[in-house]
Amino acid sequence: MKVVVAGAGIGGLVAAEKLGKLGFDVTVFERAASLDEMRYDWHDDVNPSVFRRLGMKLPEESFKKRSWTFVAPHGTVVRNFRQDEENADYSVERRPLNAMLANRASAVADIVFGATVESALISEGRVSGVRVNGAEVAADLVVDSLGVDSVLKKSLPAEFGVSVHDEDEVFVAYRAFYEKNPDAPEPKYVSKAYLKHLGEAGISWAIQDPPGKLVNVLVGRLGKMDDATLSRALASLKEENPTIGEKIVRGGTVCRIPVRYPATRMVANGYAAVGDSAYLTIPMLGSGIASSMVAGTLLAETVGEFMSRGVKGRELFDVARLWKYQVKVFGEFGAEHCGIDVMKRGVLAMDDGIIGWLLGSDLLDNDEIGALAGGGMLRISPAEALRKVRKAGLKKLGTLLKVNAMLQKSLVAYRRGKNIPRNFNEATARAWERRLLRLYGKETRS
Ligand SMILES: Cc1cc2nc3c(=O)[nH]c(=O)nc-3n(C[C@H](O)[C@H](O)[C@H](O)COP(=O)(O)OP(=O)(O)OC[C@H]3O[C@@H](n4cnc5c(N)ncnc54)[C@H](O)[C@@H]3O)c2cc1C
Repeated sequence: MKVVVAGAGIGGLVAAEKLGKLGFDVTVFERAASLDEMRYDWHDDVNPSVFRRLGMKLPEESFKKRSWTFVAPHGTVVRNFRQDEENADYSVERRPLNAMLANRASAVADIVFGATVESALISEGRVSGVRVNGAEVAADLVVDSLGVDSVLKKSLPAEFGVSVHDEDEVFVAYRAFYEKNPDAPEPKYVSKAYLKHLGEAGISWAIQDPPGKLVNVLVGRLGKMDDATLSRALASLKEENPTIGEKIVRGGTVCRIPVRYPATRMVANGYAAVGDSAYLTIPMLGSGIASSMVAGTLLAETVGEFMSRGVKGRELFDVARLWKYQVKVFGEFGAEHCGIDVMKRGVLAMDDGIIGWLLGSDLLDNDEIGALAGGGMLRISPAEALRKVRKAGLKKLGTLLKVNAMLQKSLVAYRRGKNIPRNFNEATARAWERRLLRLYGKETRS
């Protein structure tokens, strides 16, 4: 049985390794000319637990992340967030991570570089292969790991129900590592994250990279970011962070990150999406890499379970079987992402003054601030909510009710995500998808 993995993304490489180990004939098609030319020559935040879960070593050159300082819109209020040292994220270099995953995959799969996937081949109501560099390649299963703007997904017929994001569901992010200005004084805060930076829908950050040679800068905006917005944000960051020098040493590119709840449909007959093409990313949460790796594993686990029950041939890759992979994703982290997505959008849509007030007051404790600003589920019991109302005073009741409405909506999204039908049936799956989509004002999509 032939499996094609489209794109040597993080989840794709993990899926290739795991599916190869199950005995499938796996080929990975990657557009970049070589591993070295793959994107993202920098480091990203990943929780080390994912490496333990997958029985892998944390790649070399990784270092423990330091705590954040959140800056309210217009830079007036700052709030430190201490992360839990035991469960701290690590900054992991991409190149060694890609190399490690590609090495493991290539022991059981072929990786073909310089191979551009153009579209899916469709026959008899299923994905039956891909068009690559103008040639048709047949496959029993196609794993889509082409990232947020996957051409494969866009080429699927609408009746497969695998929807594509709207433009406001993408975070456009500029990332650059600047040489540190040797004349600048040591900064008071080493990891600053600007929420709704300059009052715009997005975030920016300036992080002093250990061992102190570079400053890691990000400017991200929801939907779109024109040159003027980027220049304004960079000028403001440089003014407030004199350690940012002139020379860009790494990065300096604009990329796209999905800011959507996980895809409500990740699978079709002969097709499964992993990673950013299934929208398994929550920016700032350090989630994209870990979620993609876990998704690649869950996909192979699902297929392996059906094999051990005696299911054979193409039936292994029918939508009803692959749906079980999606159920596992939602059970493990997808439902949580639905809740976080609602909260993130809620924070970005919040009045600047409310964010400043919340950060500046002692109403929220360390973990609550971390969840609210950095991305994580924030659950506040009714008794605790009442205590906060008493503490804030009745004058703030209106504001607290707005925040509470957002938190409640986030919990509803989490619960709806968890409520994913265990068994696939087109009508029930669509009804579940519609209930989730309604929370995002996207009810017409599916
Ligand atoms: C600025 C920035 C900061 C980030 N920070 C973090 C972080 O701190 N922590 C974290 O966990 N995540 C972070 N992410 C998200 C993370 O990069 C992704 O979630 C993760 O890489 C998984 O994405 P992916 O592998 O699915 O897709 P991608 O990384 O987009 O990989 C897709 C692959 O497919 C290839 N490809 C695309 N189109 C074609 C085609 N037509 N034919 C063949 N090959 C193709 C690409 O070359 C690429 O190799 C960040 C992303 C960005 C942009």
